[in-house]
Amino acid sequence: MTVIETRKPAPVQVVGADVAAAVAAAEQMLVALGVDTQVEHLRRTAERMVLSYGEMLTPTPFEATDFLNEAKHQGFVIVQDVAFAAICAHHLLPFVGSATVGYLPGARLLGLSKLARLVEHATRGVQVQENVTQQIADGLQRVVPDHGGIGVFVEAEHLCMTLRGAKARGASTVTSTWRGALERDATLRSEFLSVAGRRSRP
Ligand SMILES: [Zn+2]
Repeated sequence: MTVIETRKPAPVQVVGADVAAAVAAAEQMLVALGVDTQVEHLRRTAERMVLSYGEMLTPTPFEATDFLNEAKHQGFVIVQDVAFAAICAHHLLPFVGSATVGYLPGARLLGLSKLARLVEHATRGVQVQENVTQQIADGLQRVVPDHGGIGVFVEAEHLCMTLRGAKARGASTVTSTWRGALERDATLRSEFLSVAGRRSRP
């Protein structure tokens, strides 16, 4: 005899969300789209949708840890290719990519993992890539206010553009922003890109 264990689904919990209303609305949307929500694989899909979006839209707490720049390090500090997945504000489809974030330190250094945390923080919630780029730079500016310059570039594939619409498979969108000395000095920007291994772009 084969015994199939049935597990009770965990209750959906999303901080600050009206889960019941969201599940009912999601169910209604699926039905209106002509989807049969009574077949086995779809019976709890509305609930899973709400849980998934809830998770992706909930910002993660972020606390910056900084240290005295004891060695008086004057070169760039760059964390490259921090992977992220965000939800686009226009279609609620994911855009997936990576961010490279760096700065020239002043008297204080930011904990390295905090650069990655800044990316994570900026990519939660419904977003557009241009805002993500600016928010990472603004966040970094706030936590290391005495920086000598900041550079951020973000590269992502937008599923709303590659799976549907233009169906531009493999197309990636690159956005960049600069603060402080990097905004003013093209040579410094080239140096940043060179250190980050992106000689020719963005
Ligand atoms: Zn989109």
